[in-house]
Amino acid sequence: MKKIIAANWKMHKTYEEAISYVKEIKGKNIDFEKKDVLIYPPFLYLCEVSRLLEDSNIKVGAQNVYFEKKGAFTGEISPVMIKSCKADYVLIGHSERRHIFKESDELIRKKVISSLEEGLRVMLCVGETLEERESQLTFNVIESQIKLALAGLEDYADKLEIAYEPVWAIGTGKSANPEDASRVHAFIKDTLKELFKKDANVRVLYGGSVNSQNAKDFLSAPNIDGLLVGGASLEPNTFLEIINAF
Ligand code: PEP
Repeated sequence: MKKIIAANWKMHKTYEEAISYVKEIKGKNIDFEKKDVLIYPPFLYLCEVSRLLEDSNIKVGAQNVYFEKKGAFTGEISPVMIKSCKADYVLIGHSERRHIFKESDELIRKKVISSLEEGLRVMLCVGETLEERESQLTFNVIESQIKLALAGLEDYADKLEIAYEPVWAIGTGKSANPEDASRVHAFIKDTLKELFKKDANVRVLYGGSVNSQNAKDFLSAPNIDGLLVGGASLEPNTFLEIINAF
């Protein structure tokens, strides 16, 4: 399976910084036969980043979406708008959306469906909190998040990626160990197989304090098909080291 390495800039960078990052990374040597590379800039820069990367192999996605196509939803962005900026991907259910903005599984499912219907690729984030992990609930939480978001969507399997991001590992400098992550990834693949009643071939990425030192260990572990990188993706050369770690 082709790996995928994604940069989640979160709420970082001015317009100038975003443009200069893109110009810098665009000229770098990346083996696109072996991996897909994807950037999730803030909404505000989505059209411009897409335009600058149009003639490159680097793909672009939105960090969030609202499920309605258009209407009186002040401040929201629809899948149609994301498509019109020529972005291909959308990140849904990131732990910061689930926990800071209190997004429910029901809302996440609506976002997934409307994005898929609009032709976007969806990267669904799942992951347990530290409390859930310590209560041995990791597999229950992951299974429930996946089933609530994706039940009945087997026809869209080739438009999906899942990012396994343990909440306690995001932005903390405390990554999971690759063996533990690998076990959860295998469980995610089994869950999808059961849910979709077929081998879904959905790529499962690991995210949570990935850096240029640990990227190779994650990418070499079974069932880890890519990386979703936050903090360490903010500097183009560090992100490039991660991209080229495998
Ligand atoms: C993320 O934003 O999805 C993430 C994993 O962040 P970090 O790499 O900073 O932990």
